[in-house]
Amino acid sequence: MSTEAIQTQMVVIGGGPAGYPAAFYAADKGLNVTLVDAAENPGGVCLYRGCIPSKALLHAAEIIRQAKEAEAFGLTFQEPELDVDKLRAWKDAVVGGLTGGLGSLCKARGVTYLQGRGTFKDATTLEVAGASGATTVTFEHAIVATGSIPVSIPLFPESPRVLDSTGALELPDIPGRLLVVGGGYIGLELGQAYSAFGSAVSVVEMLPSLLPGADKDLADVLARQLKKQFESIMVSTKVTKVTETGDALEVEFEGKDGKAFSETYDRVLVAIGRRPVTAGLGLENTGVKVLDNGFIEINKQQQTAEAGIYAIGDVAGQPMLAHKATHEAKVAVDAAMGLKTVFDAQAIPAVMFTDPEIAWCGLTEGEAKAAGRTVKVAKFPWAASGRAKTLGRHDGFTKLIVDPDTERILGVGVVGPHAGELIAEGVLAIEMGAVVEDIALTIHPHPTLSETMMEAAEVYHGHSPHFFKK
Ligand code: FAD
Repeated sequence: MSTEAIQTQMVVIGGGPAGYPAAFYAADKGLNVTLVDAAENPGGVCLYRGCIPSKALLHAAEIIRQAKEAEAFGLTFQEPELDVDKLRAWKDAVVGGLTGGLGSLCKARGVTYLQGRGTFKDATTLEVAGASGATTVTFEHAIVATGSIPVSIPLFPESPRVLDSTGALELPDIPGRLLVVGGGYIGLELGQAYSAFGSAVSVVEMLPSLLPGADKDLADVLARQLKKQFESIMVSTKVTKVTETGDALEVEFEGKDGKAFSETYDRVLVAIGRRPVTAGLGLENTGVKVLDNGFIEINKQQQTAEAGIYAIGDVAGQPMLAHKATHEAKVAVDAAMGLKTVFDAQAIPAVMFTDPEIAWCGLTEGEAKAAGRTVKVAKFPWAASGRAKTLGRHDGFTKLIVDPDTERILGVGVVGPHAGELIAEGVLAIEMGAVVEDIALTIHPHPTLSETMMEAAEVYHGHSPHFFKK
C-alpha cells in the first residue's frame, strides 16, 4: 500500500449532487480542486441509488399504467410481460451513462478525482483511504458533502427480505406481497413502481395521513389513486414486530385503537427516513460542530464552525433534496472564494414523482394555518383543463396561496401528471416577487397543463373562462 501526498486549494468530500457541482464550479472559477468519493465516478445517492434509478423505474411503471388506462378510449394492449433482468439492466445503464459522463466532466475540467473514503486529520489535512493506498490531501478549503443514508431500526431483522430504498432499487424480484413501511415520498414512489410491476402493495404509516408535510388536499388526490392501486393503506398504525418465517415475513401491527393484528409478506421495504453521514469523517479533529439532530452546523454561507470548512447537501440540513444540495454548492464555493453570497432561496420546490405527481413550493396552507397567517387560496381544477382531458386525466388541480393584502404569491401547490415540471413556474413567481396579476397576464401556451397556473390566477379574481363559481 502506497501513501501519496497532494496539495489542493479546495477538497470536496462526497460526489453527490452537492459535491460534484461544488467541485465543478470551483474548477470553473479557476481553483485547483480535488473531489473524493467512494464510488468509481461521481453521482452520490441521487444518481446511484436515489432520484435517477427511482425515476427510471417509475417511467416503466407509468407506461404500464397508461397502457391500462388507454382501454377507456379504445386502445387495448395485451398484459405486459415484465423481464425483470432487462428492466434492471436498462436502469443500471441509465445510471452508468450519467455517472460515467460525470467522470468525463471531472477529467475535462481538470478536477482530481480520488476514489476512497476521506477522514479529517486536522483542519487542513484529509486522509483518503483508497483501494490501492492512502493519499494525504493538504487543503486551503474543504467542503463536506457526505450526504445521508437510510434510517434503520433494530425492529427489522437482518434479512434479504427486508429492503431499504437501495435494496428495493436493485429490483431483486417482484414480490407477491410487499409491505412498505413509511408513507413518505420514497416509500410511495417505490410502492407504486412495484405495484405497477405486479406486487400487491400495502403501506403502513404511524402518522394519521400519508405524505406528512404536504397539504391535505394535494395528498388526498394521490390517496384516492393509491386506494385503487394498493392492497391496503394503514395510517395511524405502527409495526411492532417483524419475524422471518422461512420464506416470508410475519409483521405484527398496532392500529389506531390499540388493536393488534398480523399479516404475512414476501418482502418489507423500510422507508422511514434518512440520516446525515458524519460518522468516521474525523470531524472531531476539526472545529466542525455536529448538532443534536445529526446535521453539521452551518451559517448562511454554508460555513461550519471551522472557518475553512463548509458543509452542503443532505449533511447540512433539511430539506434533503438534490436541487437544494446543488444550490448550496455554489454558495459554499463563492463564500470560500471570499465573494459576497448567502443561501437566500425564497422557495425550494418539493416533488413527489408518484402518480399523480404532487409538487409544491413556498408557503403551504398547513404552514400558513400553523403560523396563524391569513392567506387567500385560488384553486383551478384540472377537470376544467382541456389538456388534462386529452390526457384522460382530470383528477388534479393547481392552487395559488396568496397574501390578500399585497396579492403576492406566497406558495403554489400542484397535483396531477407532470406537476413536477409545472412547479418551476411557481418557484420563479415566488423568487421574482410576482403578484397574481403577473401570472394572469402572462400568455401561457394552449393546450398545456401550464395554463392551469394562469387560470388559477384568473380564478383568484373570478375571471377564469373555464371555471365559474357564484
Ligand atoms: P449524496 O447524494 O448522499 O452523496 C454523498 C456522497 O458522499 C456519497 O456518494 C457517499 O458515498 C459519499 N461519502 C460519504 N462519506 C464519505 C467519505 N467519508 N469519503 C468519501 N465519500 C463519502 N431528491 C430529489 O431532489 N428528487 C428526487 O426525486 C429524489 N428521489 C430520491 C429517491 C430515493 C430512493 C432516495 C434515497 C433519495 C432521493 N432524493 C431525491 C434525495 C437525494 O438523493 C438527496 O437529497 C441527494 O442525493 C443529496 O445529495 P448530497 O450530495 O448531499 O449527498
